Amino acid sequence: MPAQKIITQWGILQPIHFVLGLLIMLTITLLLWQHYGMNLSLRFDPSNFTKISASDDRDTEGGKSIGLLTYTADYWRLDCQLNEGHRSPYCSIDLDLSNGSQGIDFSKYTQITIHYRYQDAREQVNLVMINFNPEYSVENDYRSQKFTEIYLPGAMGWSTHALSWRQFNVASWWIADKKIPPKWADNEFSNIREIRVATGLFPKKTNHQIDLAYIELNGKWISNNTLQLLLLLLWGGSAAFWLITELRRSMQALQRSNKQQQALKNAQERLKETNQLLTERSMRDPLTSAFNREGLNVLLASEPLNASLCIIFIDIDHFKKINDTHGHSTGDQVLCLLAQHIQQQIRPSEKLIRFGGEEFILLCQYSGLAQAELLAEKLRLWLFSQNWPSEITLSCSFGVAERQTGESFEAALHRADLALYRAKAGGRNRVEVAK
Ligand code: GH3
Ligand code: MG
Ligand code: MG
Repeated sequence: MPAQKIITQWGILQPIHFVLGLLIMLTITLLLWQHYGMNLSLRFDPSNFTKISASDDRDTEGGKSIGLLTYTADYWRLDCQLNEGHRSPYCSIDLDLSNGSQGIDFSKYTQITIHYRYQDAREQVNLVMINFNPEYSVENDYRSQKFTEIYLPGAMGWSTHALSWRQFNVASWWIADKKIPPKWADNEFSNIREIRVATGLFPKKTNHQIDLAYIELNGKWISNNTLQLLLLLLWGGSAAFWLITELRRSMQALQRSNKQQQALKNAQERLKETNQLLTERSMRDPLTSAFNREGLNVLLASEPLNASLCIIFIDIDHFKKINDTHGHSTGDQVLCLLAQHIQQQIRPSEKLIRFGGEEFILLCQYSGLAQAELLAEKLRLWLFSQNWPSEITLSCSFGVAERQTGESFEAALHRADLALYRAKAGGRNRVEVAK
């Protein structure tokens, strides 16, 4: 595969893929490490432990049991002589683990291994963990400590037993003797002050010999359960973090998109307004602001067919002379003023159109001919009475026509034009109504 292609394919990976890969690798590493490594161990043997002694009843019962401890480089040996009338615990090897009032927390270990020899296969070895807990134990009362024990078989030759804590039981004599409530009657290994390796429950009245090579505790720095919980938290926490981040990102994207949409809407609104303005402008004459011919077409298109419509054709009298005498710009001024004066006098339904040069049309929708004639007359008088620039005396001529049923606008306009022609011919400054 070409290098370029590989780089492109890596490019589609996102941070989440790297984090996921990292989590998977971390999980596998931790699981393998916990399984094959993370070992925790504690060993007691003659080479590293000296706080060991034999106990018997010489002090309390006058020697019905006599225990003697000797040791070699490889093991400790208990020689125990049991006489008539001996009582439990007969003889034992005691490993003193206390450091002041503090014992050792065995609960972090999962397995205890004992390597021993007891040449009488009919006898049992009693392995006892002695735990101190102020809830039920008091100092200077040895038997107030909890005795949790297991019985192991005597064996010809060396024997090894790997035991879990579940295989131990709290001694029933201790529960009965100390009247221990059920809540304290469970196995407990969090503060072991002493390990005892003793003769069994009913040993023969004879001589016994127990050799103890070592006791070893094994466990893991992190227990299986703790690791599972840690991994669960790690995955759960990462998933929650990812979800929150994604949610935030989605919300931000939504906000951005909303903003963009709003901006687009505003731009559309402005475009619409500009468009309206431009359309409006294209319909108007720039000099007088009256409608132009384009505007006239739009007005006619939007007008209902067969609606009554009157046309007043307005033409300034001798406008050419005004231009010639006072100049073209005065002429323009007059045109502007004239449009303004007319706009002031008409209703919103009546529209003023600059038809060309100094000719205007007034479209009177919904008006009868008589009404239109009255309006034309009113406008004629009004315009004639106004003050015009350069003290011009200005008059206009009017031709009025009403569109007949079925008649085209052009035909009606032509009749208005004819009426206007008659007004001009009749001496100007007058109104003529079309026949
Ligand atoms: P009549 O009474 O017969 O209507 O005479 P008139 O002079 O008004 O008519 P005519 O058609 O002979 O002249 C119209 C003049 O209007 C000619 C032209 O120079 C002038 N005119 C047309 N458009 C404009 C304009 O936009 N501005 C100015 N200042 N003059 C214009
Ligand atoms: Mg004219
Ligand atoms: Mg004229």
